[in-house]
Amino acid sequence: MSEAAIEAVAERAGQEGIGLVRFLYADHGGIIRGKASGTERLRERMAGGIGHTVAMMAMSMLDQLQPVAGMGPVGEVRIVPDPQTFVTLPYAPGAGAMLADLAWPDGSPWDGCPRTFLKQAVAELAGEGYALRAAFEPEFTVGRREASPAAPTIPDRLVPVDDSLCYSATGFHLAHDFAMDLAAALQAQGLSVEHYYPELGHGQQEMSIRHAGALRAADNHVLYRETVRGVAFRRGLWASLAPKPIPDQAGNGCHLHASLTDLAPDGAPGGRNVFADPADDNGLSAVGYYFIGGLLAHLPALVALTCASVNSYRRLVPQTWSSAYACYGMDNREAAIRICSPWRGDPGGSVNLELKPSDSSANPYLALGAFIYAGLDGIRGKIDPGEAVNVDPATLSDADRAAAGAHRLPASLNEALDALAADQMLTDALGPLRTTAYLAVKRSEAAHFALSTDPYYECFHHFTKI
Ligand code: GLU
Ligand code: MG
Repeated sequence: MSEAAIEAVAERAGQEGIGLVRFLYADHGGIIRGKASGTERLRERMAGGIGHTVAMMAMSMLDQLQPVAGMGPVGEVRIVPDPQTFVTLPYAPGAGAMLADLAWPDGSPWDGCPRTFLKQAVAELAGEGYALRAAFEPEFTVGRREASPAAPTIPDRLVPVDDSLCYSATGFHLAHDFAMDLAAALQAQGLSVEHYYPELGHGQQEMSIRHAGALRAADNHVLYRETVRGVAFRRGLWASLAPKPIPDQAGNGCHLHASLTDLAPDGAPGGRNVFADPADDNGLSAVGYYFIGGLLAHLPALVALTCASVNSYRRLVPQTWSSAYACYGMDNREAAIRICSPWRGDPGGSVNLELKPSDSSANPYLALGAFIYAGLDGIRGKIDPGEAVNVDPATLSDADRAAAGAHRLPASLNEALDALAADQMLTDALGPLRTTAYLAVKRSEAAHFALSTDPYYECFHHFTKI
């Protein structure tokens, strides 16, 4: 980290009257955590990080510490912020934030750090001559946190702010003040708002953000999650990006959009979208099809990282536009991978792939890193994705679905974790420490929620934390 970069942040913090700067990271439970530095010692803390126990990456979303070798009570890492990510927080007056790596005290990379994993994936992709641009497309539910009739077993429930219809004008009216605050807060942090609309579920909203380079896209998603909740909390509301915060309402997806560009001779991302081929019926290049081939080949394991919670699998059911089958299609909202039709005016630049089995309970660094590795495996192995499925796979007979290779996605977190444990390529990429810790944390969450048969118990724990 250069002294000039540290100085620039310290100066900005001074000018903007910042008293505390949060150093944030995402853990294996998908929770955003961190510690804050006072501004007097900010320069030192930026250079050396804030001390942190290695054990925190073995902590589940229920704050239950799992026994993981290398993440016990002995051992220290540092939360080291990336100065490029500094923002002042519009929803937390006097506070700023940076996204952080977890590094050894001497500054060298720690093999348990998720953000380092994404950087490693980006470097490996660059080795093949490509850079990835991505955008997470988050949905979330706005409501009030109220005492549940089932207390004390289920202390609180999320009561949505409205019962408006999908994309309805009434929905715009009812959430207007919140939506305006949110858009302004995102823009103020440099996240460019693309679209906003009230979504299908009661109180459900979607505000999408412009794509960016891979690391920035994942950082943006952490800032986004923080902003949605922070803006809501300040208005006395409760917002949740959990995949299914309310059992009988539409789920919150966080579809992952991505395309590859070439690299300029100096290694910087070039301008050409290598997924585009105007001569192809779907506008997609051979590289794009191979990328899909890799995603499909690793999909059961990949969803353990992109649909990372027990709650995720309540969302992934047929005919909810969330996808339930491993197949791809042109603008097919029931296929796990959608080839998005290009924009008129930018047919070459706008082609992108959308992964639908993806939600905000994921650690975005692990999810996007694994997505890159899976696609790269397809490119390297020239994996043929087979034919596009351009119908709703749920309407096919079992035999036709099998013939199309459209297998059901894992129906539970445990099933996805089994697939991840068996996926040599992905576990090699993650490395032994991340793999062991991730599996231990996630298995513990699955075991915990298996003890309750009441969906509201699981939803309570997810909407309060994500
Ligand atoms: N809410 C849907 C999901 O769970 C997505 C709806 C849409 O297509 O925007 O993924
Ligand atoms: Mg949507």
